[in-house]
Amino acid sequence: MIVGLRIDVDTMRGTREGVPELCRVLAERDLSASFFFSVGPDNMGRHLWRLLRPAFLRKMLRSNGPSLYGWDILLRGTFWPGPIISERAADSIRAAHEAGHELGFHAWDHHLWQMHIDDLDEPQVAEITERGVRALERATGHLPTCSAAPGWRCNDVVLRAQQAFPFAYQSDCRGESIFLPFVDGVAHPRPQIPVTLPTYDEVIGRDGVTDTNYNAGLLARLNPERLNVLAIHAEVEGGSRSELFVEFLDEAIARGWRFVPLGDLLASGVELPVAPIVAEQLPGREGWVAQQGQTSFHTAMRPGRVRGPRSLQ
Ligand SMILES: [Zn+2]
Repeated sequence: MIVGLRIDVDTMRGTREGVPELCRVLAERDLSASFFFSVGPDNMGRHLWRLLRPAFLRKMLRSNGPSLYGWDILLRGTFWPGPIISERAADSIRAAHEAGHELGFHAWDHHLWQMHIDDLDEPQVAEITERGVRALERATGHLPTCSAAPGWRCNDVVLRAQQAFPFAYQSDCRGESIFLPFVDGVAHPRPQIPVTLPTYDEVIGRDGVTDTNYNAGLLARLNPERLNVLAIHAEVEGGSRSELFVEFLDEAIARGWRFVPLGDLLASGVELPVAPIVAEQLPGREGWVAQQGQTSFHTAMRPGRVRGPRSLQ
C-alpha cells in the first residue's frame, strides 16, 4: 500500500516557508518525497500587477507578443522583474535535497509556462528547461533527477525538447498507471508517472467537499490495487492547510499506507503501457491539462534503463 508523494513548489513563499514546514513534517515521520521546484522569477502572485499594466502589454502577453518581441525578451526578465526563487531561497531548496528528498524540476517561470506553453517551440522549451535545471544545480550542487510540467501542461513538443535532459522519469500529466508516452509514432523511452489523485484546490468547495470532510474523501480514493500518486503544494499543504495535511498523513499511515518519492515507484524490466498524452478538461481546473490517453500497446522497459525501486514490498 504505497502512495507516491509529489510536492509542487510554485512560488517564493512556498519555497521559503512551505518547503521547510513540509520537510519538518516528513522528517518527523521518517518519510521522503519528491519536491518539484519552480526556480526562476516568481510571477504567480502578480494578478494585480497584470491588471495595472498598460493594455498593450496585456495584449502582447496574451497572444501576438512572442512573434512581435521574441520570447527571449520575455524570458530575460525585461518585463518580469520578479525575484529569482532559486537565488533568494537557495537554502530551502538545498535543505530539502540534503534531507534526502528527490530533487525535481518544475518550472523556470510557472506562470509563463501555464499561459503560453502552446506557443513555445522545441528550442524554447529546451532553453527554459536548461535554465531551470542549471539553477537547481547551482542551488544544490546536483542536477534534478526528474521533472514535472507546470499546471500539467505538457504536449509532444515538451516531450521531445526535454528528452535530452537526464531525467529518470517525468510526471507531466494526470492518469492511472506508469506509462511510456507515444510520440511521433513510437514509444518514448522515458516513463511518465502520472498524478492519479485530485489536488486540494480541485475538489474543495465542489460537491459538498469542505475542510471537515476533505481528508475522508481523499483517504477513500486511495486504492491498494492501483497506482496512487498524490500531488500537494508547498503553498497549501505546507501553508494554511498544513494541519489538515498532517491529519491526512497520520491517518493514512495508521491505515497501513506508506509514502515514497515517485522515483521509488519505478521498476526496471517491467511491461509498461504505451499511451499518448492528450489535452483534456478536468473538473475544478481552468483550461486543459495533459492526460494519459488510451493505451496503444505494451512494451517492456529495458532493464537498467531506469533506476530500480529502493524498497518496494
Ligand atoms: Zn505547479
